[in-house]
Amino acid sequence: ATPTALMAGTGKAAENGILFRDGEAIQTMKDLDVVVLDKTGTITEGNHSVTDVVGGDDPAVSADGGSLEEPGLSEREVVRLAASAERGSEHPIGQAIIDYADEEGIELTEPAAFDNVAGKGIEAEIDGRTVHVGNTKLFEDAGIPLAYEDALHALEQDGKTTVLVAVDGENVGVIATADTIKDESEAAIQELHERGLETWMITGDNERTARAIADKVDIDPGRVMAGVLPQDKIDKVSQLQDEGYNVGMVGDGINDAPALKQANIGVAIGTGTDIAIQSSDVSLVRGSLDALVDSFTLSEKIFQKIK
Ligand code: ADP
Ligand code: MG
Repeated sequence: ATPTALMAGTGKAAENGILFRDGEAIQTMKDLDVVVLDKTGTITEGNHSVTDVVGGDDPAVSADGGSLEEPGLSEREVVRLAASAERGSEHPIGQAIIDYADEEGIELTEPAAFDNVAGKGIEAEIDGRTVHVGNTKLFEDAGIPLAYEDALHALEQDGKTTVLVAVDGENVGVIATADTIKDESEAAIQELHERGLETWMITGDNERTARAIADKVDIDPGRVMAGVLPQDKIDKVSQLQDEGYNVGMVGDGINDAPALKQANIGVAIGTGTDIAIQSSDVSLVRGSLDALVDSFTLSEKIFQKIK
């Protein structure tokens, strides 16, 4: 391709909200075999909102039929503790729980201590008690047994993200959040498949929730990488490259930056974070996956013309 043609192509793409870092990025784009899509914020809107709160008596105890000496925490109290713990967090799940508490008129407490565990959740001190808010990995690390497994599985089967809440090492409830799939995701993924691209989903969310979302957008259940810690996303991309694939990675978050760099083409979607945009070869201003399809079309067109 001549430099002039590439420049013209880059300009045309930019008019369509597709910002290629350079001419090489346009060229590499058309050689991709696999596209790894981050779930939250890429396939979905990334705007979580609370859908369910499970609290009250510990079912593991009340199932015995005996009356409880100490009744479990009320659902309001579960929300109050979780939202208070999330006050220092910038995670969209934390924000959703805080917004919900606000809507319900629940007053929050300032945590005395706060620790953010990447890809797992929060540990905080509230009213002299230790509160854990997060996923099963957080609970495993802290040695906290699960008390609401049936509810957990049912919610996850529905594609909801589950957040476990514990007080002083006891699982007192579950909060579920849901995130809307972007309107364009399903059709765009379909088009990627028609072009012969393989699509994978990667997420820190749990396996069951991830598969439920994958099913809705027609991503093969065997190509779902769930429960992936932020620092491990890069390894998942390398593994696919080691299998001989040219890998494109699409993401929006700070967590995605190393994987975007590792990929043959890193694609930052939407307004994303600055660090994701800096680590990418292509930036999609429109923030939906149909722009990804357009960038493939452009790449192919330019190189057909110039050949
Ligand atoms: P992703 O962007 O792929 O969804 P993250 O690494 O941000 O992944 O989070 C992975 C998982 O860790 C979340 O699905 C959630 O279960 C848990 N998690 C992370 N941060 C928090 C938080 N502040 N509160 C509750 N859960 C959290
Ligand atoms: Mg994300």
